[in-house]
Amino acid sequence: MFMPAYTYDDILLVPNKSLNSRNDPKLETKLSRNIFIDIPITSANMDTITGYDLAKTLSSLGGVGFLHRNMEIEENCDLVKKCLDSWENHWTPFIPTVGVSGKEKERAENLIYLGVNGICIDIANAYSDKVVEMINFIRSRNQYVDIIVGNVASASAAIFLANQKVDAIKVGIGPGSVCTTRRMTGFGVPQLTAVRMVKTGLVESKYSDIPIIADGGIKSSGDIVKALWAGASSIMTGKLFAGCKEANDPNSYRGMASNSARQVLLNDGDVSTVAEEGIAIEVEDSGSAKDVINELCNGIRSGLSYAGCKYISELNLSKDVMAVVQTQNGIIESGTRK
Ligand code: 5GP
Repeated sequence: MFMPAYTYDDILLVPNKSLNSRNDPKLETKLSRNIFIDIPITSANMDTITGYDLAKTLSSLGGVGFLHRNMEIEENCDLVKKCLDSWENHWTPFIPTVGVSGKEKERAENLIYLGVNGICIDIANAYSDKVVEMINFIRSRNQYVDIIVGNVASASAAIFLANQKVDAIKVGIGPGSVCTTRRMTGFGVPQLTAVRMVKTGLVESKYSDIPIIADGGIKSSGDIVKALWAGASSIMTGKLFAGCKEANDPNSYRGMASNSARQVLLNDGDVSTVAEEGIAIEVEDSGSAKDVINELCNGIRSGLSYAGCKYISELNLSKDVMAVVQTQNGIIESGTRK
């Protein structure tokens, strides 16, 4: 009656015939249909995580920062202008975010006018007619900007968005480390299964060219490798950058649906009847984002080598790389012990 669903810790990948060198793997991948990136790492559009500093660091290392939108439109435009001015040589160093209600069309229109290559429509459940309305609005203003939409956690939701010609789909309902959606609402899908269901559904519906971003729940480079195996082209993390000196607030980390973030969340209609779906926490110093990113990339390269895959696209839904489900004892064995 119930379909089993797994998250990162539930499985391990079975080593395949190795590549000859751990330097052989290439980390380049697609963020969206027309946007290529050098490493499969993006930072969450959360107001304690991605502002100018983290976006700049990520872009210099080949990834992408998703700018948060918890600010007035004018401030948002100034931030985007600052990013565009500083990184002329990069094609798409960052992605701004919009919602769907209130003044968000105005935000989208202004951001597109500035000349961004991609824009993210980000809401808690993107399987929604309001998202379609926003996609159509953006397309009416600019046919070429890549539209990244999230979040979803099922094949049907992804196909619904694919039918609207979105350029990338962000997957993750409830896996985030400061998220309480599953407890508050009872809804969500363990993240590894969510990514795999979405990718499989898209491939079966002839939408294999739409890249997936696995958003939330990543604790290590091993989790990233598992996400790529499940079908993601890149991952999004807030947690791994919380506490980095380049984070927008290096001292705290809060869910964007936490009460403290919602108090400043502007132009989003009346939120008083909507349940709080996130928490706010203090975080410890976790050094520089550059070191974090380099370490993650080393781990991903090693993972690709174990998989015998030179490219991330080869690892996506690879039939040569098997997965096994871990028991509780297996999970203990996978951790370090004295
Ligand atoms: P993390 O890296 O902390 O595991 O996950 C980050 C992701 O959590 C974000 O990219 C976003 O998708 C999700 N998220 C951020 N804030 C909230 C929130 O308040 N509630 C929920 N449900 N998800 C959130």
